[in-house]
Amino acid sequence: MTARPSTEQRFRNAFWVSETGCWNWTGYTRLGTRGPYPIFRADGKSSVHVRNWAYARFRGEAYGRKPQLLCGSPLCVNPWHLELSIQRKPSTRRYPTNTHCSRLHPMEKANVFYTSTGYRCCRECRREYDHRRRWERRGLEPPPYYPRVEADPPEHVL
Ligand SMILES: [Zn+2]
Ligand SMILES: [Zn+2]
Repeated sequence: MTARPSTEQRFRNAFWVSETGCWNWTGYTRLGTRGPYPIFRADGKSSVHVRNWAYARFRGEAYGRKPQLLCGSPLCVNPWHLELSIQRKPSTRRYPTNTHCSRLHPMEKANVFYTSTGYRCCRECRREYDHRRRWERRGLEPPPYYPRVEADPPEHVL
């Protein structure tokens, strides 16, 4: 008797890693207006957007913002090739840049550091970046990063 593979196992078994680090999806796709996009069964639903799932699983809550693909490979599901769009298209909402970083970590004292050029940075984003780099430098896939500072969207964003 074999245990049913977990969602994460099914995810990991359904892509191959290209030279550019893209996780190219080999599972189901659906045809959207801008070409095929990866879908799979997860969270009790039959067709979940793989990229949205991967972003949430490996990088954290997207707070309704859509992960945008940076590498341009339509079948790539590498969560580190995604970036959240700061603004949703029809929305005129503004995201505070002085109180929160682009990924909505609170920019409070303990979570802020300054670069040598005086640029204000989010410590949590930096930690996640360092974590990823440590593995990628050795040519390995980074394991999931567990945040130490949770994203904390200000009320008017939700
Ligand atoms: Zn990619
Ligand atoms: Zn941050």
